[in-house]
Amino acid sequence: MLYSEAKKKAAGILMEAGVEEAGVDAEYLLLQASGYNRSTLFMKLFEEIPDEVLQKYHELIDRRATREPLQYILGNQDFMGYMFIVTPDVLIPRFDTEVLAENAIKRAETAARDRDSFRILDLCTGSGCVATSVGLELAKNSVALGRKINIEVTGADISEAAIDVAKKNWSVNYDELTTTGLKDVLVNARFIISDLFGSVEGKFEIITANPPYIVREEIQTLSPEITEHEPHLALDGGDDGMDFYRRICMEAPRYLVSGGRLLMEFDDAEAEPVAEMMKEAGFEDIEIYRDLAGLRRVVEGVIREEK
Ligand code: GLN
Repeated sequence: MLYSEAKKKAAGILMEAGVEEAGVDAEYLLLQASGYNRSTLFMKLFEEIPDEVLQKYHELIDRRATREPLQYILGNQDFMGYMFIVTPDVLIPRFDTEVLAENAIKRAETAARDRDSFRILDLCTGSGCVATSVGLELAKNSVALGRKINIEVTGADISEAAIDVAKKNWSVNYDELTTTGLKDVLVNARFIISDLFGSVEGKFEIITANPPYIVREEIQTLSPEITEHEPHLALDGGDDGMDFYRRICMEAPRYLVSGGRLLMEFDDAEAEPVAEMMKEAGFEDIEIYRDLAGLRRVVEGVIREEK
């Protein structure tokens, strides 16, 4: 069988199984099974596929046909231009969450300008994708500006397994950055097991969070990739999806310096109640940012007076 035939057949199997981007996934999995990069595979398409590659490919396609997410099979996902290891213990980083990371980076860059240290806390850190990308982007920016700032990143999560993944993701990306030229970065990270602020100490300039926010009853209505494979611990926001916002809004002011900011991801339908909660908790200058689909996705507020 030729590579091209194997790929076509696999795409058919995935389509039959209800996989949304069957053709794309069939190609990614063929890259994985063959070990080729895209351009090499393109040149080999009309050659015979070796038996062992075909067998490996079948195994991967069978997994995907059970609706196991592509990223768990490949073992990684790109986020903000960094590569993150993902396992079933962590939520797969979403592109929507880049809205959270981008705004946190923008804020941090401005706020860090006249400081010599800067502390970032990322709650419900999961794979560590927000903590890592915000910390490293801020570090890159301060090197580019010729500024020496001590950046301290804390990632917190209730799941010990998630914290293990987050630690790996930080070191892989930190090592890559520092060995590819950026020698002068002054950024440290620690990842701690903590139920929200439970084991968190100190104050921060920025707090980010992408907490679980799906309405509990609605989890069953999502795609099988999410419902059957992603950790419900990372999705379940309680009966109205708002459990974590309540707790975070109440506690966050005590962990922010004056002028410190809280940025959280949410679902469009939660925008008003979350913004309201933030106001009640003493946050000012509430801003809401939209994702690429035009949906309200991130809320930000500032604490003017330290609590
Ligand atoms: N955005 C995710 C989803 O729709 C949910 C993420 C979360 O609960 N934090 O699957």
